[in-house]
Amino acid sequence: MIASFSDLKNKVILVTGAGRGIGKSIALSLAAQGAHVVFNYRGDEAKATELKEELEKAGGKATGLKFDVTDYEAMTKAIDEFTKTVAPISGLVNNAGISKDTLLLRLKPDEISSILDTNLKGSMMVTQALSRNFLKAENVSIVHMSSIVGLMGNASQAAYAASKAGLIGFSKSVAKELASRNVRSNVICPGFIQTDMTDALNEKAKEEYSKVIPLGRFGTTEEVSNLTCFLLSQASSYITGETFKIDGGMYI
Ligand code: NDP
Repeated sequence: MIASFSDLKNKVILVTGAGRGIGKSIALSLAAQGAHVVFNYRGDEAKATELKEELEKAGGKATGLKFDVTDYEAMTKAIDEFTKTVAPISGLVNNAGISKDTLLLRLKPDEISSILDTNLKGSMMVTQALSRNFLKAENVSIVHMSSIVGLMGNASQAAYAASKAGLIGFSKSVAKELASRNVRSNVICPGFIQTDMTDALNEKAKEEYSKVIPLGRFGTTEEVSNLTCFLLSQASSYITGETFKIDGGMYI
């Protein structure tokens, strides 16, 4: 079931990491509701064109901006150009992320840096790059894609969990700092969701993990997308600084 919110029609929303997985599902759902989806891509022009066409076919407008979330210069340039020449952006989904499962003992400094730079610093920089534009936009809503492990921790995911926990503190600070300008900021903490990220797990691990999920299964990208759309829309207009678990009851 795809949730639908009428005020998302024509809303201009940047979704990072929209090329696949959770981000793609969010982008498609927003497009189907008539939003103008702005997405970033890292260099594959053919894939970006394909995604743009797919989003337009779904019913929305779509614009691809070429930047990596760890490249502040390229990101600010692309975002500034879009907001000055096309339209202010009034929604942001900080979804781009990477994971690397390794015991703390084996985690290399450059692996720690790349996880923190992408998941935490990348989201902070995109939000900062858009903050001046947000002051001109209406009913701004920011959604940060954290993780259940940002709340509960996880063996072999020390850097990933730290990056995701950091997003929660960041979102609460943004919520407090920008509330007077009608900018809201909330966090989603997914549990196990079926995507490339979790496809990397072997079948036995998937079975074991499913046993500790009260609803007995991994979630779907559409389920995360429904919650994201709710938080982007005015249906959640009095909610800010909150953290939402979507994990089938895994962490109760
Ligand atoms: P995927 O691995 O399927 O997709 C990740 C997306 O992020 C890709 O589009 C990728 O782009 C993009 N990306 C990664 N690094 C960068 C970068 N430096 N700059 C720009 N884009 C980048 O991930 P999921 O869909 O599974 O996860 C999406 C988010 O949800 C992540 O933040 C993840 O941590 C979080 N999450 C996922 C869970 C799950 O079970 N799947 C559980 C909890 C949280 P490209 O295609 O170019 O590689």
